[in-house]
Amino acid sequence: MRAAVLEAYGEPLAVRSVPDPEPSPDGVVIETAACGICRSDWHAWQGHGEWVDDRVPTDFVLGHEPAGEVVAVGEDVVSLREGDLVAVPFHLGCGTCSYCKGGHANVCPDGLALGFSAATPGAFAEAVHVPRADHNVVRLPDGVSPVDAAALGCRYMTAYHALAHRADLLPGDWVAVHGCGGVGLSAIQLAAALGARPVAVDVDDAALAKAAELGAEVTVDAGGGDVPGTVAAVTDGGADVSLDALGIAETCRNSVACLDRLGQHVQVGLTTDEERGEVSLPTDHVTQHELDILGSRGMPPARYGELFGMIEGGRIDPGALVTNRVDLAAVPDRLAAMTDYGTVGVEVVTF
Ligand SMILES: [Zn+2]
Ligand SMILES: [Zn+2]
Repeated sequence: MRAAVLEAYGEPLAVRSVPDPEPSPDGVVIETAACGICRSDWHAWQGHGEWVDDRVPTDFVLGHEPAGEVVAVGEDVVSLREGDLVAVPFHLGCGTCSYCKGGHANVCPDGLALGFSAATPGAFAEAVHVPRADHNVVRLPDGVSPVDAAALGCRYMTAYHALAHRADLLPGDWVAVHGCGGVGLSAIQLAAALGARPVAVDVDDAALAKAAELGAEVTVDAGGGDVPGTVAAVTDGGADVSLDALGIAETCRNSVACLDRLGQHVQVGLTTDEERGEVSLPTDHVTQHELDILGSRGMPPARYGELFGMIEGGRIDPGALVTNRVDLAAVPDRLAAMTDYGTVGVEVVTF
């Protein structure tokens, strides 16, 4: 089959033939219909993550936001059959530990990350193998297309988990979103759908325009100086919930500093090789205002039904975030375009 292969960090991915995957006893092979292209792929491609022992191997296929059709099923799999249309969260739980059984497979200590862990090559490929399929593969309901499901990607479901499960978001709350890339724009659309009041913060006019289109009540140009002060002014005191959807030191600090008393910061973005996982924060401000600092990673597969219900009910439209559909040969270029933040919205490779 054809795949886009990371041969050397930062060098263009090589689109070439690789061996077809075969299902393990507990796994399935999915013929990829669509796969989102994500900033996490860009981080992996750059070789980031060695500071948390999370660097992808080379000679490896990236791509962690697949949706498609099950075409081969391992002998021990009980819940899936050939022909099922499915999506796969990037974090693959073991299915048996206390975290998985408690509904938190996204933080399984024995988890694998599709398109990041050596054992689980990704879906910038015509087909992808998913182990432990009974626990990790999510069947799509009739009203959800593979492109919509690929747009759920990691970003949309991550944004939902951050807002709805990690933060205690209430209707009417002000939600500041720092960084309006894929996960940030998803958070804007979701926050509006959940009855909250999104404030979009970015340095890019096109990203802010897209945010306004998707439901941002206020947009803030972060190039204009005092972001926390501006957010506090437009929200009459500060945001109730704020997401760092980018993961650089400035957005992380701004996100914490723009909160109202008792506010909740959710760290969604992973840092770059500038921060290497360390950001200094206004901790006295955290204490004095009783702020919550939360982390959020993906979304447990058990909770996909909530999002599918919102799609089927017409409350959200993840497909509206898709700004570009490309073929596999274009993936190396589209990934490279992220270096200078040259993409807006969600780009999806389709097959
Ligand atoms: Zn587990
Ligand atoms: Zn992703």
